[in-house]
Amino acid sequence: MRPDEREVAGLTCSEVMQALSDVVDGDVPAALGARIEAHVAGCRQCEQFGAGFVALLAGMRRQLAAPEALDDDVVARVRRVIATATR
Ligand SMILES: [Zn+2]
Repeated sequence: MRPDEREVAGLTCSEVMQALSDVVDGDVPAALGARIEAHVAGCRQCEQFGAGFVALLAGMRRQLAAPEALDDDVVARVRRVIATATR
């Protein structure tokens, strides 16, 4: 674990970033999505570079619940956030 990593809600920052690519791929169970949200809500670091993250995740989950409404723009935004966070 890097010294600037934190463990919140049972996930480390790296695990959150790792899981986010799965979120984009639509391959994350709702329970894990909730833990990611809890981590971001409780981790200042992830909150900072993941500004708007929880809203994005909520949007993703709504869209995953209605795949026919999948919005490429949301996927592109999430990918940009991940690219920024892992740079
Ligand atoms: Zn974090």
